[in-house]
Amino acid sequence: MKLVSTRDANGSALSYSDVLLAGLAPDGGLYVPESYPQFMHEELSALKGMPYAAIASAVKQKLVGDAIPQGVLRSMIEDAYRTPTFELENGEVTPVTEIGDNLYLQNLSLGPTASFKDMAMQLLGREMEYELARKGESLVILGATSGDTGSAAEAALSGLESVTLIMLSPEVGMSAFQRAQMGQLSGGNIHNLSIRGRFDDCQDLVKAVKGDPAFAHLGAVNSINWGRISSQVPYYFSGYLQAVKEIGDPVDFVVPSGNFGNVFSGYVAKRMGLPIRNLIIATNENDVLHRLMQTGVYAQKEATITSSPSMDISKASNYERLAFELLDCDPKKLAEYMQTFNQTGAVSLADFGLTPAIFAHAGFESGASSHAERVATIKRLYEERGVVIDPHTADGVGVAYSRGKRDVPTVCLATALPVKFEDTIREALGVVPERPARFVNLEDNLRPDSFTVLDADVEGLKAYLRERII
Ligand SMILES: *Cc1c(COP(=O)(O)O)cnc(C)c1O
Repeated sequence: MKLVSTRDANGSALSYSDVLLAGLAPDGGLYVPESYPQFMHEELSALKGMPYAAIASAVKQKLVGDAIPQGVLRSMIEDAYRTPTFELENGEVTPVTEIGDNLYLQNLSLGPTASFKDMAMQLLGREMEYELARKGESLVILGATSGDTGSAAEAALSGLESVTLIMLSPEVGMSAFQRAQMGQLSGGNIHNLSIRGRFDDCQDLVKAVKGDPAFAHLGAVNSINWGRISSQVPYYFSGYLQAVKEIGDPVDFVVPSGNFGNVFSGYVAKRMGLPIRNLIIATNENDVLHRLMQTGVYAQKEATITSSPSMDISKASNYERLAFELLDCDPKKLAEYMQTFNQTGAVSLADFGLTPAIFAHAGFESGASSHAERVATIKRLYEERGVVIDPHTADGVGVAYSRGKRDVPTVCLATALPVKFEDTIREALGVVPERPARFVNLEDNLRPDSFTVLDADVEGLKAYLRERII
């Protein structure tokens, strides 16, 4: 199992260990598998009814190769997805429930910070710790978050001796709940910096600091990390096995999408042989991906703040991984494609001799929903089934509703718990969802010193890192 960078014309193949601690490749590309390991029908059948850890180990091992020994990977997975870290439902880590005719909901948010990002981060944290111990190294990670990534990374890495995590978040914009989730994890190896600016400023700061050779060794935990993408592949297998009657039957997945990380993991599952028919991308008003699927034009668009904020993106970084496939895995073509995008803010597949039909051919479809549609979807599902979903999940379920009759089982991914977004739930239902015990009074315990406030200034941040961290 080898990986290559989407922009590396020399095609140097790396192992899973080589890319685990890295973000971008040195050439600015993203790491993708050189070829996709395959799952045979019999292997899939053998996993039916097995616990999540067994499914995840079988799937992830194929993506890791011999970089982590089988027994070690299996114990990491068992440790990552058990109580009390995850609040299992009927013994399931990612339970699937029926919410309509041929319509299912797969809950990916039973982890410590109540979003699907825990699924990847809990495993990635353990893999990083293993890899650093093996190399006798330690790692300082600098990241930026608009909410969910920050708390998921902190929950996963808190207390590790080999890792120091510095997380930048915007001073305004996060919900009180999200802020409290991060704040309570401050201390020890976790440093929360509140930046006087917006999420984009945080992201730009991270880029600028890492662009300085003196800080180039800093690690990353954002969604372009291959360790994260690959750790999200197993739950598609689990969802599939729970939703189908017969192994081999086709299934559609609906994926609330922002940076194209989650849905790309679904694509990896499909390429590995999981019988997924369509991957249906659901966006909110920030519909860069929906418009790309419809028109073949990938055009950056300034992000507007919505009630499904974790999908508020102006571009979708992981799309580069799919573009690489569409452009015949040719790093030269891909580099040209991305250069056009980076320089002009837009690039059309037509200029590369392709039509948007290539997306449907690869199994992608899309839809978008508005705030009013999210609210209506939350209300409808609650009235029909008594199930409360969060606004991101509602983007997906709403797109499924709007497509009408379903000829194959359609699994909507639930990417966060409604408790994280109480205001929108109150708007839709007139009441707020009951909080799981671990989140009761969360906001009341925020210590005033949990965030260090800094200006959105590169030199100021470098000075802080030099003095306090490195
Ligand atoms: C991050 C996030 C998404 C978007 O996932 P991508 O991998 O960026 O497409 C959707 N929903 C929630 C709740 C998230 O936190």
